[in-house]
Amino acid sequence: TQRTLVLIKPDAVRRGLVGSVLTRFEAKGLSIVAMEQRHIDAAQADAHYAEHVERDFYPPLRDFVTSGPMVALVLEGDEAIEVVRGLNGATDGRKAAPGTIRGDLSLSNRENLVHGSDSPESAKREIALWFPNL
Ligand code: ATP
Repeated sequence: TQRTLVLIKPDAVRRGLVGSVLTRFEAKGLSIVAMEQRHIDAAQADAHYAEHVERDFYPPLRDFVTSGPMVALVLEGDEAIEVVRGLNGATDGRKAAPGTIRGDLSLSNRENLVHGSDSPESAKREIALWFPNL
């Protein structure tokens, strides 16, 4: 079994999609180990997106993820990291496959509703960052 860090981003919270997104993860069979709504500041965004801080797309991404509360959760299950990334779909909602969260519900490559850790190393780092008591 494996754990992964998921963020339900501010666009999903604003659009009232938290329940719909959670339903997909739960219906798949993943269990919720921790969950909290948080409105992060710029320093916390930089810590989460450390690998993207120098990228051109980062300043608007930072504005977006600090624009309102997100729901952070740790999900657990067999191959949870890959399973969540499959459920989330491709980064760009316009290109993500129908049936995925982004493919069904997002039309943007920035406001793409969800984040999921992309490797065991990033899951470990992100879980420690968001839920240091786990
Ligand atoms: P996440 O890490 O959020 O699960 P991802 O792994 O699919 O998404 P990354 O390449 O890690 O995508 O990019 C992190 C986030 O940065 C994306 O989810 C998206 O919100 C934003 N992003 C990535 N590329 C672009 C881009 N070209 N233009 C605007 N925003 C982008």
